[in-house]
Amino acid sequence: MINRPRIFTLDDAPQAVLNQHGFAGQDILSVNQFTPDSLAYIFDVAEEMRAMVERKGGDDLLRGRVLTCLFYEPSTRTSSSFIAAMERLGGSVIPITQGVQFSSVSKGETLHDTIRTLEQYSDVIVLRHPETGSARIAAAAAEIPVINAGDGTGEHPTQALLDLFTIKEELGRLDGIHVAMVGDLRYGRTVHSLTQLLLNYDVRFSFVSPEILRLPLDYMNQVRDAGKEVRETYNVADIIESADVLYVTRVQKERFTDLSQYEQVKDFYRITPELMERAKATAVIMHPLPRVSEIDVRVDSDPRAAYFRQVKNGMYIRMALLAAVLGKA
Ligand code: ASP
Repeated sequence: MINRPRIFTLDDAPQAVLNQHGFAGQDILSVNQFTPDSLAYIFDVAEEMRAMVERKGGDDLLRGRVLTCLFYEPSTRTSSSFIAAMERLGGSVIPITQGVQFSSVSKGETLHDTIRTLEQYSDVIVLRHPETGSARIAAAAAEIPVINAGDGTGEHPTQALLDLFTIKEELGRLDGIHVAMVGDLRYGRTVHSLTQLLLNYDVRFSFVSPEILRLPLDYMNQVRDAGKEVRETYNVADIIESADVLYVTRVQKERFTDLSQYEQVKDFYRITPELMERAKATAVIMHPLPRVSEIDVRVDSDPRAAYFRQVKNGMYIRMALLAAVLGKA
């Protein structure tokens, strides 16, 4: 019998580096698990998934497999794209995406017990949770793969993968580009994850935010330690002419303890058609969504607006990841 520790902490949590042939049975918890080779591999599989969906809508690669989607925080895109990904591959889903307050969690069940229970029914668990580090704790408790779908202000690795995939699809390259991250760089976990992934490539960074929403120092230090050229500014106009990617994010209202601070910064920046007149013809505008007011809806008809294409890429990336961790890619 396996002698398991009864209480799992971050120190118990596994975080294997993934290589092209090593995805089966692994957890996906952090972007730090990926190497340029494993990224290229997942992108190739995602391309195959796109071609397959465009040709015939779906197939039965994961028939008989069950995914549990366990979401302790609201989500529209991430939960529905995992569900669509699993169903297009012929698998089934236990969706706990609206109802954590109706489940045993509201009776006081621990994350550990919830995970140990749900893994009895399923082959893979996708978890979103408000606490940073929770996905790693869940992974330590579970025998089956756990995929982190966002843990507090920590990471959102599958979003970062789809963001990187989108940059590659839109620009045709990942090297020699200028990426401007705009908005809530302090609380935006998608910014934290994508910044780390981009360190694998020859990228110049601009971080555009009001003072109180600057990128946390440990991420900034990682960028500097990687020898990347980096600029910080609060003015989008400073970078609009040279950016290849404008990665725009909403101000994360739910993370503020003092709502008067949120009120001060919520309308700090706005991408408009007038501003986009000064951007490169080849620039790409991205957003992890949901959008509040930071991109004017008139920008949606600009061919450079990639945020809805980005959503679709999320499904292909998640199909690739599910197939890979279930040993079918
Ligand atoms: N959907 C993304 C996330 O879950 C971005 C956001 O909520 O602003 O982090």
